[in-house]
Amino acid sequence: MFYRKGRVLLAGDAAHIHHSVGGRGLNIGAQDAVNLGWKLAQVVKGISPESLLDTYSAERHPVAARVRRNTMAQIALLRRGEDGLKAARDIVAELLAMDEPRQRFGAMMSGLDVHYDLGKGHPLLGRRMPDLDLTIDGRPLRLFTLLHGARGLLLNFSKTGGLDIAPWADRIDRIYADCDGPWQLPAIGQVAAPGAVLVRPDGHVAWVGDQRQHELANALTRWFGPAAAWKADTGLVHFPT
Ligand SMILES: Cc1cc2nc3c(=O)[nH]c(=O)nc-3n(C[C@H](O)[C@H](O)[C@H](O)COP(=O)(O)OP(=O)(O)OC[C@H]3O[C@@H](n4cnc5c(N)ncnc54)[C@H](O)[C@@H]3O)c2cc1C
Repeated sequence: MFYRKGRVLLAGDAAHIHHSVGGRGLNIGAQDAVNLGWKLAQVVKGISPESLLDTYSAERHPVAARVRRNTMAQIALLRRGEDGLKAARDIVAELLAMDEPRQRFGAMMSGLDVHYDLGKGHPLLGRRMPDLDLTIDGRPLRLFTLLHGARGLLLNFSKTGGLDIAPWADRIDRIYADCDGPWQLPAIGQVAAPGAVLVRPDGHVAWVGDQRQHELANALTRWFGPAAAWKADTGLVHFPT
């Protein structure tokens, strides 16, 4: 793994360094830290197996490789004195005058298009959950407010549905919310509102409710450790990892 050797983990400029054109360095380094922090905490507390740390490198290295590629392309375009590069600059400028390419570039430059490979499924899977305007118990609330506790979040948008997360209740908050769809997302545009989503503490979507319940249990185990059993006198007990 690129960013981990045993107990040594690299993040920020220590993991990837590139020219400052495009202004991506700080953003990508902060995202590294947000991706890694909750995973480290779970492994240190014995909630998740050490293999969770390998997902850090697997998810973040492709992001840095893409930023590096984009930075190299910008450097090339900025070079003066070659007719071919002037033509390439003009073509990119024409593209940026169009809505769809401009939105794509905007999502790329801001890092809002980051998409971790969590398998096939709803377009939200692996992407950053948007900061939606929710209604909870009749009161308005922005979605990111629910992530301030840095815990997992199961957001249930359907009135029905008894998704069982009891064995993970010490690690996951379950919230029933209303939010009319379709949703407009950076990079991918309009998506149908799902029935429920599981959001990781770093704000990325780990499961989408149009998949089956057993897939929710798999996603909970993968990202939040094995199920715990209830012990009558002291509460939840974790199975050994
Ligand atoms: C000219 C320039 C312009 C930039 N413009 C932008 C921009 O517009 N937008 C953007 O997002 N990014 C920009 N960047 C990039 C951004 O500054 C970096 O990506 C970001 O600061 C990296 O943060 P970091 O915490 O990984 O590393 P650093 O900010 O380098 O922090 C590492 C820290 O570790 C300390 N340290 C080093 N060795 C040791 C040691 N042995 N023991 C203890 N401490 C140590 C250092 O003193 C430093 O404080 C720019 C960079 C440059 C150079």
